[in-house]
Amino acid sequence: METPQENTLRKIIYLTFPPESSNKPVVCDLARVYGLVFNISKAQITPRHEGQMTMDISGPKEAFDAGMTYLKEHGVGVVPAAQRVSRDEDRCIHCGVCTALCPTRALSLNIETRLVEFHEDTCSACGMCTKVCPVAAMEILLENGVM
Ligand code: SF4
Ligand code: SF4
Repeated sequence: METPQENTLRKIIYLTFPPESSNKPVVCDLARVYGLVFNISKAQITPRHEGQMTMDISGPKEAFDAGMTYLKEHGVGVVPAAQRVSRDEDRCIHCGVCTALCPTRALSLNIETRLVEFHEDTCSACGMCTKVCPVAAMEILLENGVM
């Protein structure tokens, strides 16, 4: 039997809205009708023009699939947005806060140099470090969904 966590999907998606859908509450319906939770990171929607939006969205798989079908039925284009995380080397103050929660140990303290090293090849782009870094050195980059 699936646990609630196994049944939950979380994705970053890039949406394109045809001009005729710009005044419809299709995005609100994702929460109101399907109970999905989302966070809009970028949006540009103007009347009479095609709109674009990037969002981090999650919810039970069935609701997620139904919500995506609903968007497509309303002419909204839906594509997954690839995400990667990079570090601004000039900003990092090597405080070590991020090393405690990085699940893949992509951020680790070098005990000899006392510097925090970032190994991008082992980073899963979960984004947790971006929430705790006191100087915003860790940054999420979207490889599509960029406007
Ligand atoms: S939390 Fe930010 S400043 Fe501190 S070590 Fe990590 S990346 Fe560097
Ligand atoms: S995004 Fe996640 S896996 Fe990558 S360095 Fe940050 S905490 Fe570690």
